[in-house]
Amino acid sequence: MFLYRQPAKILYKSKKQQDILQKLSDYVDSHLDEPVEILARLWDDQSEALSYREIREAILNGDIDKETFEAWQQDYSVMAAASFVPVWMAAIKAGGKDEPVTAALEGFEFSPVTNGVRKWVREHSGELITAVTEEQREAVRAMIGRAVDGRYTVDELSRVIRPCVGLNRPQAVANLRYYETIRDNLIKQHPRMKAESAQKQAREMAVKYAERQHRQRAYTIAETELVSAYNQGNAQAIRQAQEQGVLGDMRRIGSTADDERVCRRCAKKSGQELPADLGTPPWHPRCRCAIAYEPTGEPYTGAVPVPEYLPPIDEHITAEAQEQIWKEWDLIPEAHQDILKDEMDIWRSPFGNSRTDKRFGIVYMADELDEGEFIHEAAHILEEHFQVYQDERFVKILRDSLRGGKYIADEETFEHPVSRVESPKLVSVYQGRAYIEYGIPLYSDGELNPNAFAEFFAEGYKTYVLNPEYLKRKNRALWNYVRGMIQ
Ligand SMILES: [Zn+2]
Ligand SMILES: [Zn+2]
Repeated sequence: MFLYRQPAKILYKSKKQQDILQKLSDYVDSHLDEPVEILARLWDDQSEALSYREIREAILNGDIDKETFEAWQQDYSVMAAASFVPVWMAAIKAGGKDEPVTAALEGFEFSPVTNGVRKWVREHSGELITAVTEEQREAVRAMIGRAVDGRYTVDELSRVIRPCVGLNRPQAVANLRYYETIRDNLIKQHPRMKAESAQKQAREMAVKYAERQHRQRAYTIAETELVSAYNQGNAQAIRQAQEQGVLGDMRRIGSTADDERVCRRCAKKSGQELPADLGTPPWHPRCRCAIAYEPTGEPYTGAVPVPEYLPPIDEHITAEAQEQIWKEWDLIPEAHQDILKDEMDIWRSPFGNSRTDKRFGIVYMADELDEGEFIHEAAHILEEHFQVYQDERFVKILRDSLRGGKYIADEETFEHPVSRVESPKLVSVYQGRAYIEYGIPLYSDGELNPNAFAEFFAEGYKTYVLNPEYLKRKNRALWNYVRGMIQ
């Protein structure tokens, strides 16, 4: 029905534009599969999660209910945090490394995980979640709208709507039109055919069409997201070089891929100097434009970035949680605050609990926090910074603290059953949590595997901050170790 795009054939303007456009295109073409699969899986799940009863109610009410909308929003939030953050981060990293101007600077190295990068990913993630959830609601509203003029019975329409969950509005409308055409033609050509069997045949074809449409939309979103993050990597590299005083003012020249998908708006930008407020491409879905940066002045001298006093925080975090976070922030030793200001970004958690993505320096904070929960998550950032789990001294303390402990399959203490080790040297039950159900072996080299006990340091650190005397009494070696990190 439709063909996937051939790799773009590009006619080039200048060497610089050629360079960045080709790299962008190569990167996007070789990284589409993962985000496409993620989206396809999500829409399958959403379509299955929606019952016919719910769709029938939606048709009768004229709109999907609040619960469904919120469930979709939640799905996209989790998808963004768990699956798209790594995709964006990797594309930013590639874009930053490929940037031709900064790549040629001696002594400059692009850093793929900075507050500037994390902030962009956080805001962009929020924009994507809002956009796709809204699009999806608009699509369902448009489909429901077709019930009113007698083209469908409620039952029939609900069966046609379900496979269309995840499509945008024009796609959903096209799918319904396709269904109607097939159904009406069947009835016209076979006057004795039962309405039910015409509907069934038409539905089977419409389901196949919806599958192709889902794939098309997944490609559009994936491509747009990769172009967006890659271009952001270019921009972040330039910014970092300016902040480090190795670049100065830059001219931004639009670079447009000369292929069949160039829109009129983009064609006009090609070779032109673009104002800063235009931002970075994409400027429309599937846009594959880039920006060629050209230095226009001397490197900024003494360009020192303004020091941050607090780590960046997601505006969506509830007021109560923020209050608790800043209260606990003040308790963290200053030397560690300095590290966290640069290496941590605080996001509202879509997962229902707090957790930390150490790879990118993101802590996800739940809406309701127990005492010390923020310190615990911040400690995960610190343990990565200090490479605590690679430190032999720490590993020895961990093993000494757990040796001879009792292994427990704990069904009750937490929301989910967990595996843990119980030992008198632990400051909390959670400190002995063993992540063996994630495939991490309990033993390595005939000894307890420190990586299975991923909460050991964070719980110890939290207790050091909140109640040092208790930690000292329970586990003097660990208390000493944390103290040594601060002084
Ligand atoms: Zn474009
Ligand atoms: Zn933890």
